[in-house]
Amino acid sequence: MAYVKLNKNALLHNLEIISKKAGDRDKVALVLKDNAYGHGLLEIASLSKEFGIKRAVVRNLFEAKRVEGFFDYILVLADIPQEITPFHFTINSLEDIAKFPKGSKVELKVDTGMHRSGILPKELKEAFLLIKKQKLDLKGVFTHYRSADELSSELFWQQKNFEDVKNESLRLCKEFGFEKPLFHSCNSAALFRLNEFSDDFARVGIAAYGYLEIDEVFDKPELKPVLSLWAKRISKRELKKGERVGYGGVFEAEKDLVLSTFDVGYADGFFRLDGTQEYVLPKGNKVAGRVSMDSMSVLCDEEEICIIDNAKIPASFFDTITYEILVKLSPFLKREVVS
Ligand SMILES: *Cc1c(COP(=O)(O)O)cnc(C)c1O
Repeated sequence: MAYVKLNKNALLHNLEIISKKAGDRDKVALVLKDNAYGHGLLEIASLSKEFGIKRAVVRNLFEAKRVEGFFDYILVLADIPQEITPFHFTINSLEDIAKFPKGSKVELKVDTGMHRSGILPKELKEAFLLIKKQKLDLKGVFTHYRSADELSSELFWQQKNFEDVKNESLRLCKEFGFEKPLFHSCNSAALFRLNEFSDDFARVGIAAYGYLEIDEVFDKPELKPVLSLWAKRISKRELKKGERVGYGGVFEAEKDLVLSTFDVGYADGFFRLDGTQEYVLPKGNKVAGRVSMDSMSVLCDEEEICIIDNAKIPASFFDTITYEILVKLSPFLKREVVS
């Protein structure tokens, strides 16, 4: 069966670099949403706990419950629970507030310029009033940057907006008798771009997995890819010159060749190749023709083959970002941790 290998040393190496940059392990909240960016939620939760990460960020209650035992702090980005839980839930809009059970721990997401979700800075007071009315436990105030990865001053404009939001929140907390909330704003790109880090922690996803999608002009830390995708041979044949392979027969042997077919396809999350462009696997072997749902054929004579060892290669081939390549990997693939 095709499987995902997780390199423990690479993950620990990345977490070390991230913790240094943030100042401390406690200043890192590891983003584990969407099956830990396709890596495997429980595997990454367990390894990062071993490293000493105490905070996690997930997408929904289902993920939060699965990693409950691993972390002291879990922030859920987009879900509304039916009952009180130990997790922190994000308020993404004013209308959300009345939907949370009384006593829920909540964090207020503020839209400081991304205009995707969160309340507006000018709605802060109204949000505080509604939170008080609903008897929610306000634990944090945070934001998200839209251009931390790009060469522009937008990050600093948004950062300034968040500074204003922090000051106003502190003032409102006094007025409403709430405790000082946790403040956080940085994703991976922002953490590595900013010299000053005055928040309580950063929410780091992609960098932990070994990638950083930032403009080339910025200094990049030496991160190591954690994940690789492997497949096993299900069949082998000798192709005669002129024989064609797979759906549509788009690959034609120019000479006699050995062809091996492996048990990984687009159902496993590797994007479909249509056979019109040459795709070369990490060890230099070429994929022959179209990728099928559950298999692909490769010009090689190996029992086992590495399909992805660096997500940047398929990301650039398919004109997307490493995030998408990783997160599409099927949760049904077996995960194997290696050192
Ligand atoms: C996904 C996400 C992050 C992590 O972003 P990376 O670029 O992977 O570090 C941080 N904060 C929020 C709100 C997110 O949705």
